Amino acid sequence: MASEGPRPLVAGNWKMNGGVAMLKEPRLLAAMLKDVKLKADVMVCPPAIILRRVKSVLKGTRIKVGGQDCHWNPAGAHTGDISPEMLKEAGCTAVIVGHSERRTNHGESDETVAKKAKGVQRAGLKAIICIGETLDERKSGKTLEVVSRQLKGSVPEGSTADNTVIAYEPVWAIGTGLTPTTAEVAEVHAHIRSELGAIMGGEGAGVRILYGGSVKPSNAAELMGQPNVNGALVGGASLKASDFLGIIKVYA
Ligand code: PEP
Repeated sequence: MASEGPRPLVAGNWKMNGGVAMLKEPRLLAAMLKDVKLKADVMVCPPAIILRRVKSVLKGTRIKVGGQDCHWNPAGAHTGDISPEMLKEAGCTAVIVGHSERRTNHGESDETVAKKAKGVQRAGLKAIICIGETLDERKSGKTLEVVSRQLKGSVPEGSTADNTVIAYEPVWAIGTGLTPTTAEVAEVHAHIRSELGAIMGGEGAGVRILYGGSVKPSNAAELMGQPNVNGALVGGASLKASDFLGIIKVYA
């Protein structure tokens, strides 16, 4: 049972997993979804090196493809980086920015995330902006404060409901098997909705707010059924077509 609001999105973040051998999974997913009526958009975000191969496997299906990160500039002397425009050319319709693994492992600040999100929007793609508190922050009662700060710092000026998606991912829930209670999820998502209204005005009501962090087929219906939860950002469980399908089917 899904909550009311903007059309949901279920996006799979493969992270640094998946070579050519993995192409069978999106192929299988597309086949399994072929005759399923869905009230949600579906996306996979593979590593950049395999993007075009995944895109070609998914040609003619409704499954969209997204990038996992990018530089904010369209081109230039940035060794090892990829621009939003390049991701667009490879067939992406969205790019994840500010994932906690980027914030932690690459020292990305809210300011950097906002620059990347702006670049993604400039290229005509949707920025999936990730935010979320650490376990220490949750334990010390700072969750809403942290989320507010990250939203204010990471959502660029001029963002719209069409070019912006927020993914609330408590850092302590990512890849751990732990999830917040449904009441905690509902509380944070309501807070994000209200903060988006303050930042973006009327556009805030139409922004999709995804929940991410140990979503799996067995907990997806409960999590996705909370108010203001408009889909999921899925890590581990997006790697196997059968698991990912179990989550997506919440919206069938
Ligand atoms: C993620 O990294 O975006 C994520 C939600 O991971 P997992 O589903 O594995 O917790």
